[in-house]
Amino acid sequence: MQTAKAIIIGAGVAGIASAIRLALKGFDVKVFEANSYPGGKLSELQFEGFRFDAGPSLFTMPQYVDELFALAKKNPRDYFNYQQLDLVCRYLYEDRTLFDAFADEEKLAREFEIKTTDTAESIKKFLKKSREIYDITDHIFLQKSLHKISSYINVKTLSSLLHFLKIDPFRSMNKANKGFFRDSKTIEYFNRYATYNGSNPYQAPATLNVIPHLEHFYGAFFPVKGMYSIVLSLVKLAEELGVKFTYNTKVAEIKLDGKTVTGITTEQGEFVTGNILISNMDVYFTYTKLLRSRVSPAKVIRQERSSSALIFYWGIKKKFKQLKLHNIFFSKNYCEEFDFIWKRKSIYNDPTVYINISSKLKEDDAPNDSENWFVMINVPPNVGQDWDELIQHARRNILEKLSRVLETPVEDYLVFEKILDPRDIEDKTSSYQGSLYGTSSNNKYAAFLRHANFSSKIKGLYFAGGSVHPGGGIPLALLSAKIACNLVP
Ligand code: FAD
Repeated sequence: MQTAKAIIIGAGVAGIASAIRLALKGFDVKVFEANSYPGGKLSELQFEGFRFDAGPSLFTMPQYVDELFALAKKNPRDYFNYQQLDLVCRYLYEDRTLFDAFADEEKLAREFEIKTTDTAESIKKFLKKSREIYDITDHIFLQKSLHKISSYINVKTLSSLLHFLKIDPFRSMNKANKGFFRDSKTIEYFNRYATYNGSNPYQAPATLNVIPHLEHFYGAFFPVKGMYSIVLSLVKLAEELGVKFTYNTKVAEIKLDGKTVTGITTEQGEFVTGNILISNMDVYFTYTKLLRSRVSPAKVIRQERSSSALIFYWGIKKKFKQLKLHNIFFSKNYCEEFDFIWKRKSIYNDPTVYINISSKLKEDDAPNDSENWFVMINVPPNVGQDWDELIQHARRNILEKLSRVLETPVEDYLVFEKILDPRDIEDKTSSYQGSLYGTSSNNKYAAFLRHANFSSKIKGLYFAGGSVHPGGGIPLALLSAKIACNLVP
């Protein structure tokens, strides 16, 4: 009997995970990737002795990576290693407060008690609530398709539905957090978790208060060979399982016979047959570019997009002892910053700045006397703004802010610079409007409006990646691959 053929469009992390899962199901799997490298947003840059993880820098829920090796009956540690972080992130404030967000609940609560007017007890109470939301939502919203009746017919889900109000969907995160805490530093700390999936804490439902549980219970991690080693190790596994990757090959069209997938054509004009097709391409472009002759699910693909990012990759010829692996410099007016991003589609003049310095843990990422700074701010999705002008202003404001808080003229130590903006993210990864996480979660119905992991109209067509259920970020993208592949017969 001939082996069934599966095609994956895109070698983003969910595309690679899908390839592994389908190969393990016995399919002959071919992955077509437009870029010359795998990983999509999860990629790396190397210049003048500096190495940067180009996209994601915070690694959570490593068990979803390990799971893929375990499924293939391999020891994940033979492929991929990571360490757990004791200090998740350092926060540096204009008033010179240094706040250390420890992963451990006790240590975190103590830090809040020392550095803010909130009590250790209030932090623990909040994290308990965060855990409760996780326990109610995980198996409904993250582990299964929301678009199959069978997902709802079991005792656990039905009992979770009875506790629906406890997930706090009807008020904003900010509103809920103001109810928990009195210190603006604490409120902003917990509001920031909305940005983990590109949303606005002043609009997004308080259900997103589930995210701190992931960091402070399951932990935050650092892959010892850098974030890109997640991709390299998964590609290695996929290739060992017989998956064929074809790079520099953009898929131009999904071919159908009536309502059934028959294969794809590449931009070079090659036709490749396959009865199962998983699109890891942004669902918006899958419909608008690859399925042009079909009516797209307008409501679903019209959903508001998540925020994008402006990133400066800076080679810095100095070591800053006060900085750690992950660092945040909060805006003086967090609420105003989100107004600029979401209402004005612009960049506030005092943005919150995130700096990731992987050379703090992986020393060979920068020359001896230097550090590799990944400097990122949240920005709106690309709707045709004058990015060149916005970037020029943002760069100046960021340098001034960092120099002020660090009491050092940062620009004097800048020896290398490369910039990535929403236009580049859209170009390099085919992500509509350069959004980092597919659609935003600003709307309380967002989880239900995200596209399903399968097409209800086209037989053989499935979707995996950050733009579809259950959403963006490495862990959820990996879960989307799991859900999609579990639906493949
Ligand atoms: P993508 O990475 O979107 O890749 C899709 C792939 O499909 C691309 O390689 C693209 O070239 C290919 N493709 C598209 N169309 C075609 C076509 N027609 N033919 C062939 N190939 C095609 N997540 C975290 O967990 N932690 C973080 O700290 C974090 N920070 C982030 C920071 C930045 C700057 C960015 C950009 C993202 C960040 N994310 C983070 C989000 C995370 O990177 C993504 O959610 C995840 O990597 C998305 O994976 P994906 O499988 O959806 O595919």
